[in-house]
Amino acid sequence: MPSLERWVYAFGNRRADGSAAMRDVLGGKGAGLAEMANLGLPVPPGFTISAKLCIRYLESGTFPAELPEEVDRHLKYLEQVSRKKFGDPANPLLVSVRSGAAVSMPGMMETILNLGLNDETVDGLITRSGNPRFAYDSYRRFVQMYGDVVFELGKEPFAEVLEEAKRRRRAQRDIDLPADDLAALAREFKAIIQARTGKAFPDDPTDQLWGAIEAVFKSWRTRRAIDYRRVHNIPDDIANAQGEDVVSGTRTPVPLAKMKRGRLAKVYAELQRVAAKLERHFQDVQDIEFTFEQGRLYMLQTRRAQRTGLAAVRIAVEMAQEGLVSEDEAVQRVPPQDLDQVFHPMVDPRSSVTVVARGLPASPGAAIGEAVFDADEAAALQKKGRHTILVRPETSPDDFHGIVAAQAVLTARGGMTSHAAIVARGMGKTCVVGATDIEVDPQAGRFRANGRVVKRGQLITVDGTTGRVLLGAAKLVEPRAGVHYAKLMAWADARRRLRVRANADTPEDAKRARELGAEGIGLCRTEHMFFEGDRITAMREMIVAPDAAGRRRALAKLLPMQRGDFEGIFAAMTGYPITIRLLDPPLHEFLPHTTQEIAALAKTMKLPVGRLKRLVDSLVEANPMLGHRGCRLGVTYPEITEMQARAIFEAACRVAARGKRVVVEVMIPLVAHVEELRRQAHIVRRVAQEVFHAEGRAVPFLVGTMIELPRAALTADELGQEAEFFSFGTNDLTQTTFGLSRDDAGRFLPFYIEHGILPGDPFQVLDQDGVGKLITMAVRLGRGVRPELKVGICGEHGGEPSSVKFCHGSGLNYVSCSPFRVPIARLAAAQAALEEAGVVNRTRATV
Ligand code: PEP
Ligand code: MG
Repeated sequence: MPSLERWVYAFGNRRADGSAAMRDVLGGKGAGLAEMANLGLPVPPGFTISAKLCIRYLESGTFPAELPEEVDRHLKYLEQVSRKKFGDPANPLLVSVRSGAAVSMPGMMETILNLGLNDETVDGLITRSGNPRFAYDSYRRFVQMYGDVVFELGKEPFAEVLEEAKRRRRAQRDIDLPADDLAALAREFKAIIQARTGKAFPDDPTDQLWGAIEAVFKSWRTRRAIDYRRVHNIPDDIANAQGEDVVSGTRTPVPLAKMKRGRLAKVYAELQRVAAKLERHFQDVQDIEFTFEQGRLYMLQTRRAQRTGLAAVRIAVEMAQEGLVSEDEAVQRVPPQDLDQVFHPMVDPRSSVTVVARGLPASPGAAIGEAVFDADEAAALQKKGRHTILVRPETSPDDFHGIVAAQAVLTARGGMTSHAAIVARGMGKTCVVGATDIEVDPQAGRFRANGRVVKRGQLITVDGTTGRVLLGAAKLVEPRAGVHYAKLMAWADARRRLRVRANADTPEDAKRARELGAEGIGLCRTEHMFFEGDRITAMREMIVAPDAAGRRRALAKLLPMQRGDFEGIFAAMTGYPITIRLLDPPLHEFLPHTTQEIAALAKTMKLPVGRLKRLVDSLVEANPMLGHRGCRLGVTYPEITEMQARAIFEAACRVAARGKRVVVEVMIPLVAHVEELRRQAHIVRRVAQEVFHAEGRAVPFLVGTMIELPRAALTADELGQEAEFFSFGTNDLTQTTFGLSRDDAGRFLPFYIEHGILPGDPFQVLDQDGVGKLITMAVRLGRGVRPELKVGICGEHGGEPSSVKFCHGSGLNYVSCSPFRVPIARLAAAQAALEEAGVVNRTRATV
């Protein structure tokens, strides 16, 4: 039974059946074309097949019965307005079949151009264009694309033959070949198709069209398209369809400004007018595609331009300053994760470097790695933890997994809109393209440039900010964010309700966190202060001490170390709250393992090696993550808590004595039962009074608890009676809610995510349905008994935008994350507040 749904939508001639709002049906490209046609811009006539058909087609393998008739009707209309005929040998209509999805996936899907050409219609094209070379070049390109896309032969078999033809004629560019050669190539390409598939290339334009339509739909499921969606978090089941994006950019384009003078001046002026109109209309920077024929401009595509993080910030700020968008909208527009790119490292301008080649600075930042010439190799080495630079003559979408795996991408060909450039920029990956002085030989695994040879495995540095390729590992420095960044962040800070703190364990981290805008420390992991040098020995002495006296001796060594660090941290964060967590060392991370380590410790402790070994063995736990860690250590050995409290308050008093304001929050980790908290809090408060008394001054302080076990969340009303603040340790809370080991999840979690059992890694993105439910419940229970209860989060989720939004919605007071993620959290918090206030982003860009 024919369905009532409509499948085909026309555009062109200053009108269209849809608009930008219909992205779900028309795909990004179809929607942009419709909107441009409605705006009265010059768009060549065409039609869009509904994206909704794609999933249906992929599932059932067939098209609706009424589709051919609908397509036919629209084709007739094209013939009518173009005054050409599909398959007419005298005056052929040629079409392109292009893909588009509701979300932009540049170069990921398929396209076929010049469809309608065959041995007869090519003559018509020769007569009408008066240019046999152009006609045969179009013809051979069409057969080539068709063989690649529809017959799925890939690019290689055709590229080899083409390269050979160019070598014979010493031709630089494809179009430099004489017409006869191009005609011969078309014939040869058809023979390749016949030989490899056993099927003939279709001469009938209608057959060509249906083959192309099916292939475009199928391209949704190519490996590169699937990989792209995975990296960009695009669901596999949004509908898509039609055509392609000509961004595989295998040729370096000529700068647009060159059109300004000469015979294309009029086209250039028209293009400027159209571009300005589009930017105003969509209220965002556009990436446009155009063509011209006999001095007339045609628009082929418009979409929201891909941009680096730095560019995103600048565009948003400048558009607000020009009055095109409000400050609220500017804040809404920058994806928080993009701020990661603002802090990309750069090559130290003062260091001396050896430049081997230069290209176009396609995506900023600097990266060091071993040169590799093959995407599979980049992916394989990444699994071994090695850093690579993917070097290619040019990239095609088939290289996508290699681009993901490499630290940076370098290509000999291609412009700023090439595949490598756009894909890398979108991912914030360093990239240099069009480095024309390098000659890449992927088979031999090397490239030559300016008299030098760089072989596979050799270290190079790619500087995507300046376009330079450097020999060896250059010295890198952290960048400084510019005025646009400062402005945007000031706007964001004025709009957010959530405070943003940092997780910092050393005075240096604390300083960096302040520079990045942290308003305090939400987590200082005190055991991290003991990882280095002889500190670990003192820590181990304390852990393996056979009795309280031994433990006290070790603690006496640890106290001045801790006090010194605390002083540094308090001074770096003066005036801001600082949460210090009491020791939480999973024992397996700290016990001595090797014979040398045991021998050295035995010597320090003046114990026989055999005795110490037995002591160590007695401390080994089957499940250390659930073992003698967190407050369980301080509960069983109260002298540890006493030492830490003493170090904290003595440091606080000393810094306060220098006239600096110190605000301390002492946090008890891994509490499951209120009695644990009660005992630990009692020790902390008692030691505080003793120190204040001895020092003759007091500092303000709070005692609170981490909520990182389900039982703590379930009994948060009891904990709230003792604790003056809660901080959600969502790393452990995720581990214990899922019963999923933080250390072992890597063995099966990727499978779960790949097979759609979990939507993502719950250790990265907060599981709002499960862990989140515990959080909201604990906040409600805690504030029920203590309305002024301060609540924060200090697990890794504190710097992840969707989790930050959740924290805002749950009424938390602050989030705390690693210093580099502080700006991301600040912006995400502002966006959450704006969203709550109903500020809508009016961008009409076609994604
Ligand atoms: C947590 O569990 O979320 C937390 C912050 O503590 P750690 O990662 O040190 O266990
Ligand atoms: Mg924890």
